[in-house]
Amino acid sequence: MYEDEKLVCEDCGCEFVFTAGEQEFYAEKGLVNKPKRCPECRKTRRKLHRKSRRMYDAVCSKCGVQTQVPFKPVPGKEVYCRDCFKEVAESTPAEQPESTTVA
Ligand SMILES: [Zn+2]
Ligand SMILES: [Zn+2]
Repeated sequence: MYEDEKLVCEDCGCEFVFTAGEQEFYAEKGLVNKPKRCPECRKTRRKLHRKSRRMYDAVCSKCGVQTQVPFKPVPGKEVYCRDCFKEVAESTPAEQPESTTVA
């Protein structure tokens, strides 16, 4: 039988109960590690995780620095680090400058 166990949260340091039911659930899932965080912190982390987009490792085509991009890099397609991306975006006008419309 399982017994409620008091654990200390790694994140906020508060005590929380690892209930008998949870222990049974963990055992069923074959999880040997006890939870490191209280339910509140686990919830927060899960939320954070969902928010943070999956990032892919890439090498900047411009300066060669190791960077991360929010999309899967396609071979042959240029990938820029944050700095170069800014530079490229700034040097490529999205629209014609107004001055060109003036005769
Ligand atoms: Zn906590
Ligand atoms: Zn770069």
